[in-house]
Amino acid sequence: MTTTTTAPSDAAPGGDRPTLESINPATGDVVGVHPVHEEADVRAAVARARASAEWWAGLGFDGRREVLTQWRGVITRRLAQLCDVVHQETGKPHGDAQLECALAIDHLAWAGSHAEKVLGRRRVSPGLMLANQAASVEYRPLGVVGVIGPWNYPVFTPMGSIAYALAAGNTVVFKPSELTPGVGTWLADSLREVVPDHDLLQVVTGYGETGAALCRAGVDKVAFTGSTATGKRVMAACAETLTPVVIEAGGKDALLVDEDADLEAAADAAAWGAFANAGQTCAGVERVYVHERVHDRFVELLAERARAVHAGTDVDAKIGPMTMPGQLDVVRRHVADALARGGRAVVGGNEAVGDRFVQPTVLVDVPEDSEAVTEETFGPTVTVRRVRDMDEAVELTNAGKYGLGSAIFTAKRGEDLARRLRTGMTSINSVISFAGVPTLPFGGVGDSGFGRIHGPDGLREFTYAKAVTRTRFKAPLNLTTFDRTPEQDSTVATLLLALHGHATQLPKLPRRPLETIRGRRREQAGAGRGQATRSSQPAAR
Ligand code: NDP
Repeated sequence: MTTTTTAPSDAAPGGDRPTLESINPATGDVVGVHPVHEEADVRAAVARARASAEWWAGLGFDGRREVLTQWRGVITRRLAQLCDVVHQETGKPHGDAQLECALAIDHLAWAGSHAEKVLGRRRVSPGLMLANQAASVEYRPLGVVGVIGPWNYPVFTPMGSIAYALAAGNTVVFKPSELTPGVGTWLADSLREVVPDHDLLQVVTGYGETGAALCRAGVDKVAFTGSTATGKRVMAACAETLTPVVIEAGGKDALLVDEDADLEAAADAAAWGAFANAGQTCAGVERVYVHERVHDRFVELLAERARAVHAGTDVDAKIGPMTMPGQLDVVRRHVADALARGGRAVVGGNEAVGDRFVQPTVLVDVPEDSEAVTEETFGPTVTVRRVRDMDEAVELTNAGKYGLGSAIFTAKRGEDLARRLRTGMTSINSVISFAGVPTLPFGGVGDSGFGRIHGPDGLREFTYAKAVTRTRFKAPLNLTTFDRTPEQDSTVATLLLALHGHATQLPKLPRRPLETIRGRRREQAGAGRGQATRSSQPAAR
């Protein structure tokens, strides 16, 4: 397999067709040449995908599982080759490339083997009013899904849509980032080895305009992952044809460190969450809120770890270059803004931002309205702020416009705090773990987008719910006929009263947080054992 081939389309590089060079961001070397697919190419790819969609949907869950299992085998056996392409196009170390591929393979396995359970037909209760009906629901494939992906995790991220869309019975046309066309091409070629005669996954390469063409090409859904700004453009384009979208956009994830946290573990996780992949992680740690009692010690520990990591191409380099040259300007601007407005660099700083590489940077005392706190930086930088308590940490976290992921380090209060954070995902005593758990939905709120990939929600995202009723016997009371009599209408009224008439008399129960309820139960249990109890006092909150 070569990185200079493209989709199984009639559009090969060369001739009059414009081409796109893929560049190794660490060296500037050209590592591949790919065609720039235009509107007509994209439409042709979608037409081919549609022609294959019926065959693929008709294969059923077992047949699709078999194909996806074989594809997983091909990717796994060729993992080193795929990691080479990822390394060349993004500059990330091989170990990191392998990790993202491993997680992607895991998702592919889960999606293939759970599609039937999640999406297959199941009987549901018809209720009392229509008790003569057998009711069932199943989740049908949409047809053709357009996937538009970013460059930062060029295997893991699009696979979160591709694997789930395919497992749900759709065919896919994939537009990878202009920075990672070789990775997208590799993935499509590897599936074609398993199914050479059908267009299950095609790749259209090119710039933003190729992605825009995909939005206009009549696909049944667009799964977009990328920046919030582009997500808005994708949504606007899709609105023209009422094409549904999933938007997985940027983040400004916070990590909260409570006074009782394991500080070594918190600092270790903060360093990895902030600096891994050179900070180019949508759910990476970009800001940290630390309880005032442990703030100084935490900063010391984080600084130690930051100093032990450097960006480069040598064997000891734990992080690579900034993949997208333009992002260097954003990182430079955010660091400069933070420092100009009273922030301090404990590690790194302005001089850490080079021509291709950014060295780890830890910033403290940065005002909350600095761009380094409010906007996605997408570089190996992190701000750390002292907070009075975890209530303030929650408030500051929720004040941001993004709501992708979050993390909490605490001994006791994890679940309670997690529930109060307005983010789609939260890890307690780890960072970003939610992304690697295939059973969990992945996605955000606010400017981080909407819709979910991964897990059962991710499978359903690429389907439509199909509701079916079947009349089992002639109902004594037929509701859907003009022959209904006034007597029958009064029977309906009597039935309604019996079924629902008393509902309003039920007392409204106050909602209480789970911890308070558990606390009360513990107190009651303690009282039952004859221990001293505070149960006569109001529940602690
Ligand atoms: P961009 O928004 O720049 O691009 C994303 C994709 O959209 C690329 O394939 C791009 O093509 C394409 N595109 C650009 N313009 C258009 C258009 N008008 N219509 C349709 N498609 C278009 O994001 P990046 O590639 O720079 O990725 C980084 C961003 O992705 C960060 O904000 C990061 O947080 C986010 N991200 C979010 C994740 C999540 O799951 N929430 C996961 C990973 C990243 P081209 O490259 O050719 O411009």
